Amino acid sequence: MANIKHSSPYDVIIVGAGIAGSTLAAALASGSHGLRIALVEARPSPAHALPEKGFSVHDFEPRVSALTHASCSTMQRLGVWPGVPPDRCCRFKSMRVWDARGSGQIDFNCKDIGAEKLGCVVENNVLAAALREHLQTQGSVHLRDGSAVATAHCDSNGANVQLEDGGSLTSTLMVAADGANSPLRETMNMPVRRWDYHQDAIVCTAKNTRPHQDTAWQIFTEQGPLAFLPLPPATDNSADAGRLCSIVWSQSRARAEQLMALDDNEFANALGVAFEHKLGDVEAVSRRFSFPLAQQHAKDYVQSSFALIADAAHSLHPLAGQGLNLGIADAMSLSGKLFEAIEAGRPINDIKYLKRYQRERKTDNLAMLAAVESFYHLYQRDLPLTLRWLRNEGMRTVANTAWLKRLILRHAMGAQDSANNSEKGYA
Ligand SMILES: Cc1cc2nc3c(=O)[nH]c(=O)nc-3n(C[C@H](O)[C@H](O)[C@H](O)COP(=O)(O)OP(=O)(O)OC[C@H]3O[C@@H](n4cnc5c(N)ncnc54)[C@H](O)[C@@H]3O)c2cc1C
Repeated sequence: MANIKHSSPYDVIIVGAGIAGSTLAAALASGSHGLRIALVEARPSPAHALPEKGFSVHDFEPRVSALTHASCSTMQRLGVWPGVPPDRCCRFKSMRVWDARGSGQIDFNCKDIGAEKLGCVVENNVLAAALREHLQTQGSVHLRDGSAVATAHCDSNGANVQLEDGGSLTSTLMVAADGANSPLRETMNMPVRRWDYHQDAIVCTAKNTRPHQDTAWQIFTEQGPLAFLPLPPATDNSADAGRLCSIVWSQSRARAEQLMALDDNEFANALGVAFEHKLGDVEAVSRRFSFPLAQQHAKDYVQSSFALIADAAHSLHPLAGQGLNLGIADAMSLSGKLFEAIEAGRPINDIKYLKRYQRERKTDNLAMLAAVESFYHLYQRDLPLTLRWLRNEGMRTVANTAWLKRLILRHAMGAQDSANNSEKGYA
């Protein structure tokens, strides 16, 4: 295995220690190529202390992610997954998707493709804490928390950042993993195509009177999609087990504001009605948070000694629950291309290898963005009757066509592992 020839104090500076930036740091550290990595984060401590595991809707973080089988396997390979307590992630075995206007419904089950699970629902902070714990054991990663990047410069010789605390860092390559609003992407003048959905996603935790059956549920209404993602049993006490779900409810901005203003009982009732009481009544809800929704995509992901990953490169409507999964795949793809450059005796900022990363990921990311966009438009309120009929027919056709269901399922589980679908022993 070739070792890198160092030309700067750091080989890679990653800006943003969210889940994507931390995954990239873990992947680069796992390569045994002697890379020296700085992971720079504006917040003083990116992984918060977790609330105690308990019995109520208040014992879970409101931000969760449905990780595909491929993303979970990546975390397992990187040695991060053992840091995710089994009682804080829910392995889901099936998905049910249906149309509020009509009879279209599809049930996906892991058994359809001979798997044990489709993926895991994990609180974002639980995964962030596991990544942090892992990175703290990696001598090659310098964690620099509470250091916002003020300015940056990249050219073919390398990269340099000035931090708001007065420090400065130099490296061969710089990676922006600083989220959808990416200040670094702006500094580097990398244009994005962006459109606002004029929708907000309300997230919270809800307790239902009936158990979720380890199923991810999503109803498409003409006001927006509503997902109930299964959370792990809050207790082993069987009366409460499996009744907690994480909610992602996308609505027009005006309607979301009304929903946010309701008291908890009124909101729980509205939620139960919108969800057609599929899991009985909504008994309790946690504090609610709301996020404006937009889709954006950077025209280019790379330039001289600089690369964008994850939300800094693309962000999409949460209706498919794929944003973070794409970001994790970006991190793995970029690290793979940098290792290829080192093996070939080339510097890691060689634009040829950076462009290979861009090519590989743009194809997947744009395909997912296009699919999500089509779904979004298919469920708009003003859709003509014939298209509405076709939408329901389409769902029924997929539901009754085994090979088509398998194809969609494999894609939803993450392209990386879809071919062999092997269990990687996580969770
Ligand atoms: C309601 C909702 C539900 C979702 N559900 C899912 C799901 O089920 N599955 C899924 O895959 N995805 C989901 N997503 C998408 C997912 O949450 C995002 O894609 C993911 O969190 C982005 O991670 P990131 O690491 O790229 O960015 P972030 O999490 O935004 O991290 C960026 C980091 O950069 C830091 N930073 C910013 N500026 C600077 C600076 N100047 N200097 C230093 N540091 C800086 C920030 O402090 C932050 O820590 C959902 C999104 C929403 C809104």
